[in-house]
Amino acid sequence: MTLRPSVSLSLRSRPISFTFEIPTAKLRQFWEGLENGKVYASRCRKCANLTFPPTADCSLCLSAEMEMVDVKGDGEIETFTHILIRPASFQNHPPYAVAIAKMNSGIKVLAWVIDAKPSEVRVGAKVRLMAVKSPDGPSYAFTLVG
Ligand SMILES: [Zn+2]
Repeated sequence: MTLRPSVSLSLRSRPISFTFEIPTAKLRQFWEGLENGKVYASRCRKCANLTFPPTADCSLCLSAEMEMVDVKGDGEIETFTHILIRPASFQNHPPYAVAIAKMNSGIKVLAWVIDAKPSEVRVGAKVRLMAVKSPDGPSYAFTLVG
């Protein structure tokens, strides 16, 4: 008896397209804030845990009593990377930088750094978090300060 593969060996890969539904009902204020130029973090009303991006429930005490607070003030880049080899969904963007900055409020934020030369993105650089509009919808990004 001879075993034969049921699938042609030339079929090694194929594109898959899917849509990821993002549950937004409990985070509506965050998305509306971005539309209106504000960036919100979530804060737990029970234990004061501050989270960014906002979450519907507290990751520390599991409370669902969360409130949105404006992420005001600036931050300082703690680490960054330049993305030269972009994922498929970002192929239409030029190479870009992403950074993690510690904000004055104490939270750490991961975001793209926009309107900056690659050499200007460095550890210790001051950044401001801002709402931005992109073809993909409302988002947020860092800009360098000073
Ligand atoms: Zn909590």
